[in-house]
Amino acid sequence: LWQYICDEFKTKLSTISYNTWLKAVKPIAFSSQTLVIEVPTALHKDYWKANLSKQVVTLVADSIGQTITVIAKLPEEPNPLSSNFSTNRAQNNTKVDSRPTFMRETKLNEKYTFDTFVIGKGNQMAHAAALVVAEEPGALYNPLFFFGGVGLGKTHLMHAIGHQMLANNPQATVKYVTSEAFANDFINSIQTKRQEEFRKEYRSVDLLLVDDIQFFADKEGTQEEFFHTFNALYDDKKQIVLSSDRLPNEIPKLQKRLVSRFKWGLSVDITPPDLETRIAILRNKADADDLAIPDDTLSYIAGQIDSNIRELEGALVRVQAYSSMTHLPISTSLAADALKNLKLNGKSNEISISVIQDKVAKYYHISISDLKGKKRVKNIVIPRQIAMYLARELTDASLPKIGHEFGGKDHTTVIHAHEKISGALSTDTELQREVNDLKGKLKK
Ligand code: ADP
Ligand code: MG
Repeated sequence: LWQYICDEFKTKLSTISYNTWLKAVKPIAFSSQTLVIEVPTALHKDYWKANLSKQVVTLVADSIGQTITVIAKLPEEPNPLSSNFSTNRAQNNTKVDSRPTFMRETKLNEKYTFDTFVIGKGNQMAHAAALVVAEEPGALYNPLFFFGGVGLGKTHLMHAIGHQMLANNPQATVKYVTSEAFANDFINSIQTKRQEEFRKEYRSVDLLLVDDIQFFADKEGTQEEFFHTFNALYDDKKQIVLSSDRLPNEIPKLQKRLVSRFKWGLSVDITPPDLETRIAILRNKADADDLAIPDDTLSYIAGQIDSNIRELEGALVRVQAYSSMTHLPISTSLAADALKNLKLNGKSNEISISVIQDKVAKYYHISISDLKGKKRVKNIVIPRQIAMYLARELTDASLPKIGHEFGGKDHTTVIHAHEKISGALSTDTELQREVNDLKGKLKK
C-alpha cells in the first residue's frame, strides 16, 4: 500500500515536494484501517496533518474503496497501534536549514520550464513576454505582470523565467516567493530584528518573482515594504515579475502607488486553453510519464475539464491510478469511469442530480432520455419517480430545479413523485431494497 501511495505522489508532487514530504517518511504499521507513519520533524507532522493525510485517504478510498485513517507520529512518540513500542530506528538525517526563511535559497520547481510549457491561444502572449524577460531582464517589460484564473500557468511561467535566466547566467540571483511568503518573511524579520538582512536579501536579487499578489490586499505594512523593495530593484534595472488572479486595479485595498507602478511595465492575461491546447498538454504529460494512452481518450479527458490545467493534469493522474489498480489498459470507457468518481469526490461528496439520473437509469436498464422524458409506461414511470425522490432526498436542489433537470417538469410533479415513493416505501419491501441499493451506490 505504501509503495502505491508513494508512486502516486511521485507523479502528483514536484520532485522537491516529494523528496521533502514522502521520502523522509517511514510506514510503521497498518492495521484495522489505520496507517501509522513516522515523520522526521514536527513540521512534517503538521504538514501531513493539514495536507497529505487527507490526500492519502482520498487516494486509497478512490483506488481500493477503503476508508483509512492516517496518523503521523514523530520518532519519539509511541506507535498508537502497538503497546510495546520499540525505538530501534535509525536517526533520520534530513538537513534542517537554520537560516531565517527570507535568506533561504529559492527552489524552483524543475518541472516548470519553458520546455514543458505548451503554447496555445490563451497563453501565447504571456509566454512570449516571459521569454523576452528571461532573455533581457530589466530591459523591456518591467514589471511583467501576469493575470488570470487559477491553474492556467502563471506560476509555471514565473518558474520558467527563473530557470531560463539561470541557464543564461548561472551567477544570477533569482528569488521566487508568493506574496504570503514575502509577508511572512517581512514580519519574521521584524520579530527577529533582522530587517536589515531582510532588505539586503530582497533588494540584491537580479530577478524577483512574486506570485499571487492579490494576497497583499489588507496587508498595509507589507505593501509599504514591498513598495520600497520594488523601487530599489526597479531603480537598479532588476527584473520584477508579478502575478495575480486579477488586474492590479481590481485588487481590493492595494495601495494606489503600487497599482500605478505595476502598470509601468506590461500586463498580460492568461485565458483558459482551448480544446486543442488541452489535448496537447495532456499528450505532453502522458509522454513525459511514459503513459500509453489512446488519442481519443486524451480528447475525452480534455473535453471533460475545460478551465483549469491543474485539474486537467489531476484527471490524467486519476485515470492512470484507476488503470493500475484495476489492471486494465487505459481506454475512453475506463477514463469515463475513473472521472465519474473524481466528479463525485471533487464536490466534497455532493451528489448531483445528473449522477442520480445516471445511476437510476443504469440500475433499471432504461435510457436517461426516457428517465427525463414523458413516457407513461410503468417500467419508466417508477424509476423516474425514484430518481426524483432521490434528488429531493440527497441533494439541496429546489423542487423547480429538480423539475427542470427532469426534462422541464413542473415542481408539483416532483412533489407528487416524492410523496408517491415515500408512501410506497413504508409498505413495499422490494422498493425499500432497491432504493437502499441505489443510495448505497450513490454514496460510494
Ligand atoms: P496558476 O499559477 O496560474 O494557478 P500553475 O502555473 O500552477 O497555474 O499551473 C497549474 C498546472 O498546470 C501546473 O502543473 C502547470 O505545470 C500546468 N500548466 C499550466 N499551463 C500549462 C501549459 N501551457 N503547458 C503545460 N502545463 C501547464
Ligand atoms: Mg499559481
